[in-house]
Amino acid sequence: MRIARFTTGDDPMYGIVQSKDGRDMVYGITGDPLYTEIRPTGTIVPLQDVRLLAPVIPRSKVVCVGKNYAAHATEMGDEVPEQALFFLKPNTAVVGPGDPVMMPAYSQEVSLEAELAVVIKRMARDLTPEQVADHVLGYTCANDLTARDAQRAENQWFRAKAFDTSCPIGPWIETDLEPSSLAISSTVDGETAQQGSTADMVRSVAELVAEISSVVTLLPGDLVLTGTPAGVRTVPAGSSVDITIEGIGTLSNPIVRR
Ligand code: MN
Repeated sequence: MRIARFTTGDDPMYGIVQSKDGRDMVYGITGDPLYTEIRPTGTIVPLQDVRLLAPVIPRSKVVCVGKNYAAHATEMGDEVPEQALFFLKPNTAVVGPGDPVMMPAYSQEVSLEAELAVVIKRMARDLTPEQVADHVLGYTCANDLTARDAQRAENQWFRAKAFDTSCPIGPWIETDLEPSSLAISSTVDGETAQQGSTADMVRSVAELVAEISSVVTLLPGDLVLTGTPAGVRTVPAGSSVDITIEGIGTLSNPIVRR
């Protein structure tokens, strides 16, 4: 099931995206699927007539992992860290499909990072890897935009990773997906940048979420970003970035200088 958040000009609402007679339609649902039972409102709109929004605004946080694909660690001139390298993005970094990514004024070098994002379904604390699946609502595409110059200049990655619009997600949450071996790629203006597979993660989704839950309590709607494959590159102002994950879809965002 594909859970989307959308607007047709009025208040945002949730919907289920389904193909009908070869055409993608959005079936509006009441409330918020994280907290309420999924019930149709009767609203049915062609997907092409809605504006998709970030499928979830995390209630508290986005937890990310650095260097979770060996080939990406290598291209950054590093090795895979012995201990998982975690960092946070605030929920104010999250934007949706088509929303502009605003390059911060202090950076001349903003880079894309295609990532599989895990959407947490229920409060999670001190999970074992075996318990993780029961706490996951589904998966979406994410872009962990990074100000590389700021990242090099500082040990803490606040300026590098936490800026507004640095975490586009979408186009929707796919709830029926096995995350262990999915093609993941990115393009800049249609030209391939990254081309990898989630099978190359150093630590699996279950291992990452379990370990994160030993540090912080994960709340419904929180996101876990699972690292990026090799091929990252700087994205110039005026360009457009696509992130595609097998079984989910494509997230597109323009890059602009604010
Ligand atoms: Mn990343």
